[in-house]
Amino acid sequence: MTYLPAATRYDTMTYRRTGRSGLKLPAVSLGLWYNFGGVDVFENGRATIHRAFDLGITHFDLANNYGPPYGSAEETFGRILAKDLKPYRDELIISSKAGYDMWPGPYGEWGSRKYLVASCDQSLKRMGLDYVDIFYHHRPDPDTPLEETMGALDFIVRSGRALYVGISTYSPAQTRQAAQILRELGTPCLIHQPRYNMFDRWIEDGLLDVLAEEGIGCIGFSPLAQGILTDKYLQDVPEGSRAAKYENQLHWGDKVTQNRLAKVRRLNEIAQARGQSMAQMAIAWTLRLPTVTSALIGASKVRHVEEAVAATSNLVFSEEELAQIEAILAD
Ligand code: NDP
Repeated sequence: MTYLPAATRYDTMTYRRTGRSGLKLPAVSLGLWYNFGGVDVFENGRATIHRAFDLGITHFDLANNYGPPYGSAEETFGRILAKDLKPYRDELIISSKAGYDMWPGPYGEWGSRKYLVASCDQSLKRMGLDYVDIFYHHRPDPDTPLEETMGALDFIVRSGRALYVGISTYSPAQTRQAAQILRELGTPCLIHQPRYNMFDRWIEDGLLDVLAEEGIGCIGFSPLAQGILTDKYLQDVPEGSRAAKYENQLHWGDKVTQNRLAKVRRLNEIAQARGQSMAQMAIAWTLRLPTVTSALIGASKVRHVEEAVAATSNLVFSEEELAQIEAILAD
C-alpha cells in the first residue's frame, strides 16, 4: 500500500504559536506512549498516524521507553516513517525524551549528560532519523545538577541531534531555573510538557504564569485522563481498554472510580449542550487557555483521532459553561 497524504490536510487544523518561539504546533498533537508498542497491532498504529497527518496533526510525541517493550514505539514510528512519511519529514515535528528508566545501571535513567546524549542517539537510530525536532528532559532529577542536564540539552542541539529542547513535569521554580540556564547557554527552552486535564490542574497553580512570563510553550498531556474523561467507562470497563489491560491501575494515579464517573456523567450533559462529545469538551477545555499550545492526546483507534481533531472547531466556553464545569469538578 502506498500512502498519499490528503491534499486537504492543512484546511481545518488550527496551529498555535509555541510560547514566544517561531514554531507553531497543531492544537491537537498525537502521543505514542501506548498503542504503538511491540505488543500492539502495527497496521492499526499505522492507520492512526496516517489519519492524524491527513487531519493536520503534524506533531508526534515519543520517548525512549514508550512501548511496551521499551523502545518499541520509536521502532514502530521509524517503520511508518520509512514506509510512508519520509517524503514529508519537513512537515513533521517529532519529539522524543529521556529521563525515566530505560536501560540497567546508573547511566540508564534520570538526567546525567551521559544518559541523555546516549539515549538521544539510541532514539534517533530506532526512528531512523538524523535529528528530532524537540528533545525533552522527561522528569526532574533530584541529584544531577541542573546545569549538567541543561548543558546536555544544549549540546544535543548544538551537535545537530535536535532543533529545540523542552522539559517535562518540572515544578514552577525548577522551570524558571532551567529556563535561565538554557537562555544563558543560548538554547532557549521551547516548551514544557506537563500533565493537564479536568482532574489534574496542578499547572494552574504557578506553572502557567512562569511559562507565560518566560515565553515557553505548553503541551498538556493526558487531556482525557487516559480515557476517563470520555464516554468509554460510563457503562463498564470495556475489553481492550487501557483500564482493562492494566487492571484499573492506570499511571499517574488515574483510577476509574464511581465518584469520577458521576462527574463525567454531569460534564457530559454540558458537552452535549455544546454539541460536543465528552472527549471533545475535555480537549477543548484544556485549550481554552492561551498559554496552552497543544493538547497531547493518545488514541487506540482512528476514530479517537477524528473525534479529537473535531474538538478544535469549538474551543470557546461561555462564562456560564465554565462556572458549571467548575462546580462539578469542585463537588
Ligand atoms: P489521553 O488522556 O488522551 O488518553 C488516551 C486514551 O484515551 C486512548 O488511548 C483511549 O484509551 C482513550 N480515548 C481517546 N479518545 C477517546 C474517545 N474519543 N473515546 C473513548 N476513549 C478515547 O492521553 P494519554 O494518557 O494517552 O497521553 C497522551 C500522550 O501524552 C502520550 O502518548 C505521551 O506522548 C504523552 N505523555 C507524556 C508523559 C510525560 O511524562 N511527559 C506521561 C504520559 C503521557 P484506550 O486505549 O483505552 O482505548
